[in-house]
Amino acid sequence: MIIRPYSKIIELFRKFYLFCNQNRLEVFQNLKIQMEVKERVKCFIIGSGPAGYTAAIYASRAGLKPVLYTGSQPGGQLTITNDVENYPGYPDGVVGPQMMMDFQRQAERFGTQVRNGLVTKVDFSGEIHKLTIDDSFIIEAETVIVSTGASAKWLGLESEQRLNSKGVSACAVCDGFFFRGQEVAVVGGGDTACEEASYLSKLCKKVYLIVRRDQMRASQIMQKRVLNTPNIEILWNSVTEDILGEDSVNGMRIKNTVTNETKDIPVTGFFVAIGHQPNTDIFKGILDMDESGYLITEKGSTRTNIEGVFACGDAQDNVYRQAVTAAGTGCMAALDAERYLATKEAELA
Ligand SMILES: Cc1cc2nc3c(=O)[nH]c(=O)nc-3n(C[C@H](O)[C@H](O)[C@H](O)COP(=O)(O)OP(=O)(O)OC[C@H]3O[C@@H](n4cnc5c(N)ncnc54)[C@H](O)[C@@H]3O)c2cc1C
Repeated sequence: MIIRPYSKIIELFRKFYLFCNQNRLEVFQNLKIQMEVKERVKCFIIGSGPAGYTAAIYASRAGLKPVLYTGSQPGGQLTITNDVENYPGYPDGVVGPQMMMDFQRQAERFGTQVRNGLVTKVDFSGEIHKLTIDDSFIIEAETVIVSTGASAKWLGLESEQRLNSKGVSACAVCDGFFFRGQEVAVVGGGDTACEEASYLSKLCKKVYLIVRRDQMRASQIMQKRVLNTPNIEILWNSVTEDILGEDSVNGMRIKNTVTNETKDIPVTGFFVAIGHQPNTDIFKGILDMDESGYLITEKGSTRTNIEGVFACGDAQDNVYRQAVTAAGTGCMAALDAERYLATKEAELA
């Protein structure tokens, strides 16, 4: 008998609790909605390497008022290199970070808003694209230019980091010239490593190709090319234990994985060619990409599988990976975005 009034009281409490929480949830959701969308822009550029800044120069000159987010590496890959000698317009060469400051200044001169921040999520499901910045707010965009670049994979040795740009490199086309007539090494067993070794063999006295197993992953044609090049010596079943040198590379310690023998070999350049990782994780399941994560664009354009989203630079290029090619496709992406908007406006008129 006395249980009934208690159960009524409990039921009342339960209802009150549910009511309060429901309200709290709604208040929270409303707050989130108010916080979420900060602004809408015509053109949003993700990334501040040569591709992103070139896209920004073209988009701002076309009146698209682009907003560019720099990501965690403002200026992109070239900010970790010293001398860039192959970018047209710098006859005496230029230091990587300086070159990227010049790019930024040129983009800002025409009105690009350059902002620090990381795009942490994208939603390309609607006509207007949504980009979440630093997991804290959203920017809506009519067009998006993806120029998130790629990162070289490294062996993970302490000496590799310490001697980076002091003899250690991940790009033979970029840095091979500095090692003319010298002895260098390339590590890797794929097509890229063979390409790098081949390229260097024309500039350098001798090239060691360090291959982990007793065979290479590279295509037959590439293997044939390196095997037939007299100044390339292949070190089979070999791993790099250390890169030697205090302020610059003067050798490498190689271990034979079959005999466990180690030996020091003098070299002045050490090229890591074990692959690149495109920075495209946030687009997985949204933008078409190949098995390595490189974004796929329509032939002869920068259009992706999503309308109004364009991709340029190393994020969609696993072949050339140069500043000038990244800049070239950045220009294409801005022109594609501008034409896409013009067509849409004409349709609405
Ligand atoms: C050590 C080194 C030396 C090189 N030397 C030369 C050379 O001498 N000559 C040459 O032509 N090329 C050189 N290269 C290659 C050249 O740097 C690249 O081809 C070029 O930088 C690619 O430009 P990109 O704009 O596509 O990408 P990147 O330069 O890789 O820039 C990518 C940008 O995207 C940003 N980003 C990534 N994810 C996000 C995100 N989620 N949100 C916001 N931003 C994001 C990054 O912060 C970065 O700013 C070198 C590369 C290296 C590593």
